[in-house]
Amino acid sequence: MTARIMIVEDEPAIQQMIAFTIVQAGYKPICACDAEEAMNHIHGALPDLILLDWMLPKMSGIEFARKLRGHSRTQRIPIIMLTARSDENDKVSALEMGADDYVSKPFSPRELIARIKAVLRRRAPETLDEAVVIDGLMFDPVNHRVTAGGGGITLGPTEYRLLHFLMTHADRVYSRAQLLDRVWGDHVFVEERTVDVHIRRLRKALGTVGKEELIKTVRGAGYCFSVNADSEPDAL
Ligand code: CA
Repeated sequence: MTARIMIVEDEPAIQQMIAFTIVQAGYKPICACDAEEAMNHIHGALPDLILLDWMLPKMSGIEFARKLRGHSRTQRIPIIMLTARSDENDKVSALEMGADDYVSKPFSPRELIARIKAVLRRRAPETLDEAVVIDGLMFDPVNHRVTAGGGGITLGPTEYRLLHFLMTHADRVYSRAQLLDRVWGDHVFVEERTVDVHIRRLRKALGTVGKEELIKTVRGAGYCFSVNADSEPDAL
């Protein structure tokens, strides 16, 4: 899955330079000039990471970051603060407020991409092209293959993204709304029961190699990918 990187920056030249760097690195940029425009995008789809300028017109970057951290839907979006300020206190307050990292202007494209990669690795591993192996089930994003015990599994595009997300976030429970946000990128127009339909298809496909039990239904909460047998999967 191509990572969607939101750039919230009011200076057009800097915004364009960052967007160009993002595209060169293989990510998808989403540009906004201020917090309000950013919020409009976020209402539609959650980005995988936000590059947030500190000095913005109207609501400052730090206030906007605080606002995002204050809402359950947006509180886990990784944030890298961009600033011309190199004051140690600013850095500390950005990190205390919950920013994942902090980049001082001027920065090189290489430095910016290295910081983005490091944050995505920690916070959004489903956006990386790294193979994941859990309980003999291997997800290989580079070759677009899912295998177990020498056998391959054929998945539809949604099941493929869903499995990738679940395997890179194993042992954590996600609600249907969270899965819509993270896998579909759309929590407004897609109904929650759509998630159940695709989970059912995914389990069926995993069943062909005896791995269907890796997806657990957690009653009243959602779904979880786990090798532990303590949460009993029930039939949907
Ligand atoms: Ca600015």
